[in-house]
Amino acid sequence: MNFALSDDEGVGIERLALGNQVPWTIEGCGPAFTVVADGTTVTGQSVSSREQTTRARDDGGVETIIRSRCTQPALEIGWHIRRYPDLPVVETWVSVTNRGQASVTIDRLDSLGLTLAQRDYELLSYTSGWGLEFDEVRRPLTVPTSLETLRGRSSQGMHPFFALIRSDGAVLSGAVAWSGNWVIRFEALETGPTPGIVVSGGLHDIGFAKLLSPGETVEAPPVVLALGYGGDLDTTSIAMARAARAHWAPRSELASRLPVEWNHWWTYEDHSINESVFLSNVAVAADLGVEVCTLDAGWFGPSDTGSQWTDVRGDWDQVNTARFPHGLRHLADAVHDRGMRFGLWCEIEALGPKAAIAQRRPDLPAMRDGQPLGYVCLGNPAGWQWAREVLERLVTEHGADWIKLDFNLDPGLGCNRTDHGHGPGDGLFEHYTGYYRLLEDVRAAHPDLVLENCSSGGLRIDLGLLRRTHLTFLSDPDWPEHGLQLLWGASTMLPPDQLLHWGYSEWHGEHRHQKFDPRDPGLRPHQLDYYRRIAMLGCTGFSLGLPDLPEWVRERLRHHVRVYQELVRPFVRTGDLHRLTGAPRRFGAGERWAAVQYAQPDGSAHLVLAFRLHGGPGLGLTVCPDAIRPYLVDTEIRVTGKTLYETPEL
Ligand SMILES: [Zn+2]
Repeated sequence: MNFALSDDEGVGIERLALGNQVPWTIEGCGPAFTVVADGTTVTGQSVSSREQTTRARDDGGVETIIRSRCTQPALEIGWHIRRYPDLPVVETWVSVTNRGQASVTIDRLDSLGLTLAQRDYELLSYTSGWGLEFDEVRRPLTVPTSLETLRGRSSQGMHPFFALIRSDGAVLSGAVAWSGNWVIRFEALETGPTPGIVVSGGLHDIGFAKLLSPGETVEAPPVVLALGYGGDLDTTSIAMARAARAHWAPRSELASRLPVEWNHWWTYEDHSINESVFLSNVAVAADLGVEVCTLDAGWFGPSDTGSQWTDVRGDWDQVNTARFPHGLRHLADAVHDRGMRFGLWCEIEALGPKAAIAQRRPDLPAMRDGQPLGYVCLGNPAGWQWAREVLERLVTEHGADWIKLDFNLDPGLGCNRTDHGHGPGDGLFEHYTGYYRLLEDVRAAHPDLVLENCSSGGLRIDLGLLRRTHLTFLSDPDWPEHGLQLLWGASTMLPPDQLLHWGYSEWHGEHRHQKFDPRDPGLRPHQLDYYRRIAMLGCTGFSLGLPDLPEWVRERLRHHVRVYQELVRPFVRTGDLHRLTGAPRRFGAGERWAAVQYAQPDGSAHLVLAFRLHGGPGLGLTVCPDAIRPYLVDTEIRVTGKTLYETPEL
């Protein structure tokens, strides 16, 4: 990456280009950062008296901090640039310290400010919603345009990601590493001799205001940029995946294995799960080669077989002994005795409307204008401590090796209580800062524990949580086309070994596309094979009722678990993912063939997975991946890359 900071006219990125590409930036520099403090706007171009330090970071990359001062108000502003010398990836963020004698209100903290040349760009972004994650939108970039969410979780409405594809094929991908409200703005450059487009953003300024005491510092979340070429998003996503694997994603032995998971939820939900049902599934799961058995919602709250999971979220100190008379450790022991690991679901932030804890601890709920928001404010030190102790008990008392951390609500602009230690304008900011610290603290205490990030499926997918959890759950539904669309979109910003999704689960509830019945007499082996292979594209599992499966289905599942473990997951762990086709769409549109190629970075091995969807043409697929000639794929033929290359008729 050809990256240069300006050295005389303010603070900014002077040059951003990949190799000899035409630079993205125009002459002079962009605003670098924008801080609004006590109504005064400070940008990289308006500060003086700079001081620059550079250091190698323990967690990878090289960080340069450019510190500058402004006098009115008296602030020290640090602009941070983290570079990865072997990758075309850079991230920037801003920190502000109050150097005056009086408190200062910070209303805006933009971590990114770039000025692009005026050219034609295609803008790619993803809208999102429950069961509708990663819906690709491509359009010519016009200004002004904003990508954003104000729903209080990063992927509700839109994913915190964009890509610009320039008319000469150069690609610039960006992602906000933040789990709350974020924004990326594209605006016309208003000053200067040349027209341009200013790209700014990071933490959303709407709803954010932080009162900074003398001596206090606030740090904004980073925005990550990756550069690519050839109009090919693989070139930026592979760079980001390599950065994630080498520097960002936490490690644990269990998560790195990419264990095959069974989860009770879709088949039994809360009303139909109990000790004997769980244990009878565990016995079959072990026989199938499953490595983790997860008890989802339904285990907590009062001992009442009719209790609803959503109502009593927060009552994690109670085990529903009407369903689980011997407690959870009994289940964990049974799972462990069969050589597997025990997963446990918890929505640690949430407070259900009937949760007893909300009555006992009125200091916990996040509130806005006096109304409860349905979650525990982790910006409150007492709430943080409570949550930390709950998670500790899940591990030490209940024996969890894996915690599926869900979050099923929109905090909006967040908590504005004034008795939580945060101010009225930074409750959401402090909640997420607290959540990050909670995850880091739990991991430090339990380095082998796996933390899974889930939020109504995939409504809080971002690089902030990628850096603090081991696995990212992509979506609640998992019918075949949906799974392929998700993989396509999610892999543009996250490494494939972080992506957890199951394959065509057996749903108790109604969903017009979740109709899989493994006991259907009409089910044929090739159909089951197809569903299971689609699920192998990342980290995998299934939510099926196991005890009464037909023998052939059980046998076939066992086979697919082994194929995943022996053949596929070594590629998912370390391979570069190339998307060989465009994105299929979940409701029958988009590409009707979906194919990906995993290539080990040293070129030693490749794995191609290709799927024909309804309406896809004929008996094969023609694709042109890098260095491989067009070829046809049949799922039953396995050939080496060399054979493919030398045998055009394949
Ligand atoms: Zn609060």
